[in-house]
Amino acid sequence: MNIADNIKRISERIATICQGCQRDPAGVRLIAVSKKKPAVDIEAAASAGQRLFGESYVQECVAKIDEVGSEVEWHFIGALQTNKVKYLRGKVAMIHSVDRLSLAKEIDRQWGKDDACVDILLQVNLGEEESKGGTTAEALVDLARKVASLPNLRIKGLMALPPWGADPEEVRPYFRQLRELAETIDALGLPKVTMQELSMGMSHDFEVAIEEGSTMVRVGTAIFGAR
Ligand SMILES: *Cc1c(COP(=O)(O)O)cnc(C)c1O
Repeated sequence: MNIADNIKRISERIATICQGCQRDPAGVRLIAVSKKKPAVDIEAAASAGQRLFGESYVQECVAKIDEVGSEVEWHFIGALQTNKVKYLRGKVAMIHSVDRLSLAKEIDRQWGKDDACVDILLQVNLGEEESKGGTTAEALVDLARKVASLPNLRIKGLMALPPWGADPEEVRPYFRQLRELAETIDALGLPKVTMQELSMGMSHDFEVAIEEGSTMVRVGTAIFGAR
């Protein structure tokens, strides 16, 4: 398992799929999901030119941010308890997993202490799976309206972790639904809200996600190996 080779291969697959659907590859960013992998693996990926990293667990995320020397950008993508937001303050560039107003308010409060602003995505639980975070599609507009009024965060788009399908084609309707939800939110013209980012697609289905408009693919296993 060579991390540099894997990143190169995935970047090539991203470029190929973008060509096939007439998208600019610069509009699709690769987030290397490094959860449960040691800092040395992150350094290896960073040496290969990887800049964006995704983490899912607060303690692990903070420890690695302190450990990794390279200039990289951290994205928090996991389920987030309100009482742990404080540990992430000022350390992550984007939080992908905002799914309730109480969480958004705490993020706003924490970043407000530094008079700073953090980019967030609203996570939608498209399959309405009990085991996964995310607001329902029905509640999304209301949540977006309320979160939009908070001064110390900026809604940049949507994130989803759709039900797993052995065949990525089974996941395509969910990716499409997330894009359509983003169009719905965009049409509301809420102040400070843009729908420029769609965080969707993982190791086994990122190509289909890109065809459906993904701007950030979150790839773990295909870069770092099985967890
Ligand atoms: C673990 C994880 C990923 C990466 O999954 P792989 O199948 O290893 O690519 C992506 N997104 C989220 C939210 C994750 O928790």
